[in-house]
Amino acid sequence: MALKLVSRSAWGARPYRTPNGATPYGRARRGVKLHYLGTAYSDRPHAQCAAYIRQLQAQHMDGNGWSDIGYSFLVCTHGYVYEGRGLRRRNSANGNTALNEQDYAVCLLVGSSGLTKPTDAQLDGARDAIDYCRREGPAGTWLGGHRDGYATACPGDAVYAWVKKGAPRPATSTPPTAPAQEDSMAITDADARKVAKMVLTMDGVIANPNPATAKTNTHIALMTAVRNIETVTRRSEQQIAAQSAAITKLASLVGSGVDTDTVVTAVRDAIRDAVIKVDVDITQNQES
Ligand SMILES: [Zn+2]
Ligand SMILES: [Zn+2]
Repeated sequence: MALKLVSRSAWGARPYRTPNGATPYGRARRGVKLHYLGTAYSDRPHAQCAAYIRQLQAQHMDGNGWSDIGYSFLVCTHGYVYEGRGLRRRNSANGNTALNEQDYAVCLLVGSSGLTKPTDAQLDGARDAIDYCRREGPAGTWLGGHRDGYATACPGDAVYAWVKKGAPRPATSTPPTAPAQEDSMAITDADARKVAKMVLTMDGVIANPNPATAKTNTHIALMTAVRNIETVTRRSEQQIAAQSAAITKLASLVGSGVDTDTVVTAVRDAIRDAVIKVDVDITQNQES
């Protein structure tokens, strides 16, 4: 899973106070230490997560008197990783200066009551944060919790058990059940004969130069069926082309700051242009 990093500006962080908030790490970090909130927490829509992070920052700066939010990173239940003090500035969450210097501090938004178990998306996000710290920090491979070397219940039993197992990626949800019905629908000879008979019956009206074989000339009927199948196939292919054109158009607009109406109009035009092309092509095919 790709790291979903939310920068300080993206979550609306206040500027940190100097000089303490700007203290750089003096050496490479041993590893990553995990935390939890240690208060009641209830899950919430992701749209409210940034506000919660801002509230934590206010608590740390105005309540604790720290120069910034204490953690290096925070991970919401939806797997997003919020930049706290980040990779370069020393955190203030591990208990004392030596411990802060030693390891990064990553906090999972789970509580000591309410929501106490991390979600799978959150474990994925926490793993992303750990990998990010190791790759970009630098941080070594040590993993643990706030309670390692400090008297606290943090990061709670669930997160602690997970990190002490090496912070594994959560088992992916059971793979979608195999399309058993589809596989078991192999066409039997009897089915094939039934289909052939239906085609023949439907196409029985086709004029046949020899009236004696009009009802039994499967050759004419099957040629008609093949043409119908070809038409349907071409239509599907053209629909896919229309969708691809629309998606390409949309992708070219995303991120360029255009307003929604412009995007919708452009996509609608792209679909209409492709659909007109489909109609023309099919008409030509039938007439040839
Ligand atoms: Zn902690
Ligand atoms: Zn969230």
